[in-house]
Amino acid sequence: MPDYDVIVLGTGGAGLTAAIKAHDEGAKVGVFEKADKVGGTTAWSGGMIWIPNNHHMAELGIDDSADDAHAYLMSLSHGLINPDLARAYVDTGPEMVQWMEENTPAKFVIVEGFPDYHPEHPFGKPGGGRSLECPLFSFDELGDWRDRVTVGYDYGKAPITMAESPLGSAVPQVVPEEERERRARHDERGSGQALAGRLLKGCLDRGIEPVTNARAVDLIVEDDRVTGVRIDGDDGSYIANAKGGVILATGGFEWNDEMVRTFLRGPMTSPVSVPTNTGDALKMAMKIGVSLGNMREAWWMPAVKVPGDRGDGREHQHLFAAERARPRSIMVNKHGRRFTNEAANYNAFGAAFHEQDVARFEYVNLPCWFVFDQQHLDTYGFINSEPGEPAVEWVTKAPDLADLAQTLGIDADALQNTIEQWNGHCANGKDPDFLRGASAHDTWWGDPSRKGTPQATLGPIDTGPFYAVEVTSGALGTKGGPRTDSEARVLNLDGEPIPGLYAAGNVMASAMGMTYGGAGGTIGPGMVFGYLAGRHAANLAQMRRNR
Ligand SMILES: Cc1cc2nc3c(=O)[nH]c(=O)nc-3n(C[C@H](O)[C@H](O)[C@H](O)COP(=O)(O)OP(=O)(O)OC[C@H]3O[C@@H](n4cnc5c(N)ncnc54)[C@H](O)[C@@H]3O)c2cc1C
Repeated sequence: MPDYDVIVLGTGGAGLTAAIKAHDEGAKVGVFEKADKVGGTTAWSGGMIWIPNNHHMAELGIDDSADDAHAYLMSLSHGLINPDLARAYVDTGPEMVQWMEENTPAKFVIVEGFPDYHPEHPFGKPGGGRSLECPLFSFDELGDWRDRVTVGYDYGKAPITMAESPLGSAVPQVVPEEERERRARHDERGSGQALAGRLLKGCLDRGIEPVTNARAVDLIVEDDRVTGVRIDGDDGSYIANAKGGVILATGGFEWNDEMVRTFLRGPMTSPVSVPTNTGDALKMAMKIGVSLGNMREAWWMPAVKVPGDRGDGREHQHLFAAERARPRSIMVNKHGRRFTNEAANYNAFGAAFHEQDVARFEYVNLPCWFVFDQQHLDTYGFINSEPGEPAVEWVTKAPDLADLAQTLGIDADALQNTIEQWNGHCANGKDPDFLRGASAHDTWWGDPSRKGTPQATLGPIDTGPFYAVEVTSGALGTKGGPRTDSEARVLNLDGEPIPGLYAAGNVMASAMGMTYGGAGGTIGPGMVFGYLAGRHAANLAQMRRNR
């Protein structure tokens, strides 16, 4: 029966931040991870964190304030954002970043120019500043732990930063071969690997070694307070005690089919996160009567299925983000019609995928396809093929639009009309139907050589042969779970904090409601609430010790 002051469950951005902060507030910390490797989806990610009003903005002369950021978020709320949680997030975010930089190996820089995801909303930032990422990090520094960080199937060991990637930069940097070799020699990694590696190093420096293959299965409650957790581990089942509290940081429930069916507001068939995120802590929390919130929401992400598995027996679902914004492409539904701004942020697509036709009793926009022409392929390449190369064999190809429509099973005239209309919009330099290209967001993600103009994303589909792939409704993770207060304390059914129980990251009822503020919009809040949880739980342990 190991004894701790604070126990953290899960080793993503939320969990590792909580562990570090709790330690530095004087707590003896235990970290338990269900998988055989640490880092969670955070280690698979781009590693960006969206922190409004961070101190690096001031260094670059970019104006921001907690009030502005709060107003921006509330303008996206549609009644779903808890203003107090949003307040705690924008107030604490800058402090968290500064504290981490001063006390841990986690360092951050602005991904310059990366616009917020709704930059034209009040106090949005079309010129960026709120999205941060870590510089490259040498995994040599992790010693024996170097190979114990999980590596994702999409970004792999990420030898580049996001600012150097096509996503993180309107003009991707080409990293010279010599520099790539240098990075490889030192096992330097960027993006989510850099963030997870730096956070892990922060833990190891403090003598906190996460216990892997250790799945939390039950919370221990005594006198209405959480005092520990039952772990199923390599050495069997045991109870770990926590004087101050247990911090749930176990990610979402996107890999639990039953929970997905029960809670999410519409179809979600393509999760792209670590497979161990099966809603365990949600179940543990429900058993002791917590109040749940935001259960219908996820960080939505359109996906394209790539044949073959992703290395763990599950389907390889490509995150379909940058491609959609490039010219000479649109998306159509089974009626052959466009249905949204294809260049919109990925999270916003959830709403388009869940639109229903009441009379036909069907999801209007599922299935749907991404359609593009030869010039698009020649200029930008497409998943797994470089510019100028032929498309990979699983992409549907047809000599003309009628053939393409027939292969997809959609009406040829409808597709033809849609494309004629689209080509007309492109000629006029405006998309009156869905406003594609009107936002700074769209023109950042589109063709880098036309950055900042509608032509970065508008371009006719007129050069055969033509191509299509099906796009499905996916998610980076879910974002509903135990409701918390502004200190990350989990609430019971009467809205009172449950002593000794905290939640942070995708496991909690997100402070973001249905929205995604900007690049880094999931890990940013995860780390902020992890920081708050770690601090509060450590202080509670201290109080109990002094009694
Ligand atoms: C390719 C890709 C790119 C992305 N890029 C970004 C980005 O740049 N910025 C951004 O903000 N978001 C990004 N995301 C989303 C982001 O990665 C996740 O939303 C975020 O990492 C979730 O953090 P977390 O700490 O809540 O959970 P996770 O990082 O998923 O960690 C949860 C951990 O808990 C463990 N766990 C689960 N159950 C138990 C249990 N019972 N006991 C113990 N441990 C358990 C899991 O094994 C896992 O290790 C991206 C996602 C992907 C896939």
